[in-house]
Amino acid sequence: MIELTNTSTIAASQTPPALTWFPANLPSLNRRFARLEPEDVLNWGLTTFGEQTAVATGFGPTGIILLHMISQIRPKTQVFYLQTDLFFPETLALRDELAERLNINFIEVRSELSLDQQSRQYGPELWKHNPDLCCQLRKIDPMRKFLADKKAWVTGLRRDQSSARANIELVSWDSANHLLKLCPLAFWSRKQVWDYIYSHNLPYNELHDRGYPSIGCQPCTKPAKLNSGDERAGRWTGLDKTECGIHFHDGQIVRLAEVR
Ligand code: SF4
Repeated sequence: MIELTNTSTIAASQTPPALTWFPANLPSLNRRFARLEPEDVLNWGLTTFGEQTAVATGFGPTGIILLHMISQIRPKTQVFYLQTDLFFPETLALRDELAERLNINFIEVRSELSLDQQSRQYGPELWKHNPDLCCQLRKIDPMRKFLADKKAWVTGLRRDQSSARANIELVSWDSANHLLKLCPLAFWSRKQVWDYIYSHNLPYNELHDRGYPSIGCQPCTKPAKLNSGDERAGRWTGLDKTECGIHFHDGQIVRLAEVR
């Protein structure tokens, strides 16, 4: 139950809070949402923007929670993932299991370049010599195109995943993609995430049990110790890179412009 005013309450799966948004009221909206449950933030976004809302997942634990929540709140919501053609087989198996279990028709968003075309145009194994460009071609550009006609997108980012994510908000303006961005789980801890997964008996990527804190494309993901609680450990090991750029992207665009 969420508190709307001093006198009324409402269930998350019913009518969401009738809060309008505009750029200037995002700070107050975030303060208001901070008192609500993730389901309420999610429900507000899905109701406010309807079919122009898309939920992103990379099949990590927080994404799985969002998928479970929308299967309860609004099952027909668009869910997309960035098909880089470089996933682990375990991730693809999880995708299929989630599709069946939660009745989700995943939208596959992919690069205009096949891996072969990318190799011919930019050289083989681009992720080894220019991972920023590889992420731009296989993730950032396709996602920007997909989001062009949307008004809001939802992600499973959390503040305590890494220092780079420490200041994310529940609701923010995504200036690179020109739409609202919702992170309903922004304030959840790692423990809350796994408690939810276990208590709802949800499937998760078996690679987590084999020492992978975070799982992305196969060439750029390694097992790692959770040093200082950095859940992004093991991604782009040995490189000065911790994000693919779909969330923190300005630097990527500049670097791509320099390369082309
Ligand atoms: S994570 Fe690695 S393989 Fe995947 S798109 Fe980025 S650089 Fe390429």
